[in-house]
Amino acid sequence: EFRAEVHSFQAEVAELLHLMVHSVYSETDVFLRELISNASDACDRLRWEAIARPELLADDPGLTIRLRPDSAAGTLTVSDNGVGMDRQELVDNLGTIARSGTRAFVGKLAEAKDGSGLIGQFGVGFYAAFMVADRIEVTSRRAGSPETWMWRSTGANGFELEPADAAGAARVGRGTEIVLHLKEDAKKYLQVHEIERVVHAYSDHIQFPIILVGAGETSTGETAGDEAESAATPRQINTASAVWQRSKSELKPDDYTQAYRSICGAFDEPAVTLHYRAEGRQSYAVLLFVPSSSMFDLYDPARKSHLKLYVRRVYITDDAVLLPSWLRFVRGVVDSEDLPLNLSREMLQNNPQVAAMRKAITGKVLSELESVATKDAETFATVWESFGAVIKEGLYEEPDRREQILGLARFTSTTGTGRTLAQYVADLKENQTEIYYLAGDDLDRLKANPKLEAARARGIEVLLLTDPVDALWTSLRIDFKGKGFKSLSQGEVDFSLVPLAEVAKAESETPDDKAVDEAAVIAAVKLALGERVSDVKASQRLTDSAACLVAGGFGPDRELERLLAKQNR
Ligand code: ADP
Ligand code: MG
Repeated sequence: EFRAEVHSFQAEVAELLHLMVHSVYSETDVFLRELISNASDACDRLRWEAIARPELLADDPGLTIRLRPDSAAGTLTVSDNGVGMDRQELVDNLGTIARSGTRAFVGKLAEAKDGSGLIGQFGVGFYAAFMVADRIEVTSRRAGSPETWMWRSTGANGFELEPADAAGAARVGRGTEIVLHLKEDAKKYLQVHEIERVVHAYSDHIQFPIILVGAGETSTGETAGDEAESAATPRQINTASAVWQRSKSELKPDDYTQAYRSICGAFDEPAVTLHYRAEGRQSYAVLLFVPSSSMFDLYDPARKSHLKLYVRRVYITDDAVLLPSWLRFVRGVVDSEDLPLNLSREMLQNNPQVAAMRKAITGKVLSELESVATKDAETFATVWESFGAVIKEGLYEEPDRREQILGLARFTSTTGTGRTLAQYVADLKENQTEIYYLAGDDLDRLKANPKLEAARARGIEVLLLTDPVDALWTSLRIDFKGKGFKSLSQGEVDFSLVPLAEVAKAESETPDDKAVDEAAVIAAVKLALGERVSDVKASQRLTDSAACLVAGGFGPDRELERLLAKQNR
């Protein structure tokens, strides 16, 4: 007699499950989306593995996802005939959290009132099922393996693992069956219309058929009627077409929102949607989204774009670099007609077709952003607010795109917010030849900085830069329309050619100003500060304050150094 192996959860999983079970979520629906998305991933992976080993699919070629509510047993079963999991994969995948952002997630979940948005954003995945179930059994058989294993847990301490019994092995010929013993307050998920509602809301665009099976009676106690009748025969409840392959004209805004949510695992609306088909030397379909809010892994050290690459509807990888890292916030799918199906990782990295696609898609994304910026300034403002700091990384990573990126950039300046460089340059003062900026980590402190005084006295606009990335691109000696960028906290700043604004002029001509003996003041200050400063100079930077510290012309800029330190942390 085989005794079940007892495993405990990795500490993070235990913590996560504890929070899942003990927090009150308004939106438990996400569990079904997560399980369906896993089933879809499993089908995708099997289809990919079957390119090299067609026998894996041969005996059961139609990949499907099945949902079976059983009112009598109080269970909802989600099954797929995808790739499945062997014993070790069950232990690794359903007992640990391998994902990078998870520790951060656990922290955030604890402080959040309603964690469901976070669950979507962080993709808690499988474990979300414990929001609705107090017991879960997973029976799985890896494609090509003779063994079927059963994983079982109440979500409390850990899980048990044992070979499936004969009935289980017979039920699961290939793939995974997940039986959820629903909690009392989650029994609504036994109802056909609830299941359909959730599938339509979150999973309609899953590429594989989602089939509702043998629903029997609903738990509402309503007289059986049509619903129970029709539910008894298996029927497909999703559209199951690759949405990016459909023509733009047949898709409504709501279709795009749903596609965005199901492809990107998001809950919000996309801020920008870009759907097109490239024809020519290469043909491919593109469906991309700019989310309307930032995501937790935006600053992951890998800084990689994770567009999903499909080849002729077969999912290949999200590891192909189809966009540069400074557009990594863009999510979605690229489906190529030309690439070979059996792409290895190395081939992806050096593949000239992929490189050409990346270049073309990057251009498309930028021109779409430009068009949003002109047509819908409000939307663009939110995009820039969330992702501008990432886009600015492109200024040093891709010199060829510099002009375009500078054109998109929005700044807070002494004149206002949302300022473009084109506006800045159009408003240059007489004889002003440079674009002035002041960098620091806090906007309010920057605004109060005495180094702004002289610029203010001359009505010169100064950009106030607060993103860590600003330290990097401003050090590159780049220019915009022939105007260089010049820091007010570094080296000499010469405003003498720019006339004073009228008010300031009047003030500066008061007699006691004239009476100051500059040389004597400087000598006294030098004596007092000794070797703590390298030089003391009279400056035009200030009008009201008496003195300020600046870096030497060729030395490092102190504010920038601080920002850089922050970026590298
Ligand atoms: P994610 O899907 O983001 O990786 P999940 O928690 O949803 O995270 O799932 C964890 C892992 O468990 C998956 O990566 C996959 O390897 C495995 N898994 C989950 N469900 C299935 C399934 N139905 N078939 C095969 N593997 C699965
Ligand atoms: Mg998942």
